Amino acid sequence: MIKLIKKVSYLSAALAVVTVSSQASANHTWNDYHWASTTSTINLKVIDSTTADWDQELNDSLAAWSQSSSPFMFTIASSDDASRTRKRCNMVSGQMRVCNAAYGQNGWLGLASINLDSNGHITQGTAKMNDSYDSYWTQSEKNHVMCQEIGHVFGLGHTSEDGSSQKTCMDYSQDVNSQWPNAHDYQLLASMYNHLETYNSYDDGSSSGGGGGCKGGPKKCGKAKGNNEFGLGHKVLSADKYEIWVEQEADGTYTVHHVYLAEGHH
Ligand SMILES: [Zn+2]
Ligand SMILES: [Zn+2]
Repeated sequence: MIKLIKKVSYLSAALAVVTVSSQASANHTWNDYHWASTTSTINLKVIDSTTADWDQELNDSLAAWSQSSSPFMFTIASSDDASRTRKRCNMVSGQMRVCNAAYGQNGWLGLASINLDSNGHITQGTAKMNDSYDSYWTQSEKNHVMCQEIGHVFGLGHTSEDGSSQKTCMDYSQDVNSQWPNAHDYQLLASMYNHLETYNSYDDGSSSGGGGGCKGGPKKCGKAKGNNEFGLGHKVLSADKYEIWVEQEADGTYTVHHVYLAEGHH
C-alpha cells in the first residue's frame, strides 16, 4: 500500500512538473529536465540507428550540439541500423539512441523520449524520425527535426511555437536559418548543466554511471525499455504543433515523450 501511494505521488509530481513549466517556457527548457553529471562536460554515448538517408543529418546535428560552448560531447558507442532495431528503437541505459524508420502515418514527424530516474534526471533517451512523411521533407526540414529531437533529449524545449523564427532548430519555423542551434541554446544548456550532481545519470563507462539502470542484461533486468510508442501513457499537454505524453514503465520510472506533430494532425 505504501508503495502504491508513493507511486501515485510520484506520478502527480511528474504531471505537476509538466503542467507548471509548460506555462513558464520563457527560458525554453523542457521542464528543467536534464542529465545528472558530476562534471561540467557530459560525454554522451550515442547509438546510431539511422540509415544512410539520415547519417549526414545525425552527424551534422551532433557536431552542432557539441560546439565548444555546449556542455555535451558525443561518442558513437555503436551502430545498428537493422530495420527491426530502428523500428523498435529501444532505449539503452545511460545513452541516446537516434533512429529513423517508416513508423507509419501516425501523426508525428519526430519523437523524442526520455526516461527519468526517481530524482527526475534523464537516464536514457531516444530521438526518432518518421520516414512515412518524407515525401514532403526538404533538406532544411530534415535537419530542423533531427536537431530539435536531439535537443529535447538534452532537456530543451521550444523557443517559440507560432512559426516565428529565432534562427534555431528549437523553433517551429520553416526558416532555412532554423536548422541548427543558436548561441542562446548553448547559453541555456550551459546554465542548465552548470550545477554538478553526486552521480552521473549517463553511461560514463564506470559501473556506477547510467543512473542506476539495471546492467545485468535482459535476463536479470527484464525487457528493455520498449519502443515507447506515441499514444501510450497519458497525454498531459496538447499544443498546436506538439504533444507531451507521460508513461509509467514496469520498473516504476517514467518516460516522457515529446511528439513533433505532422502538419494537419492534431
Ligand atoms: Zn540536476
Ligand atoms: Zn519539439
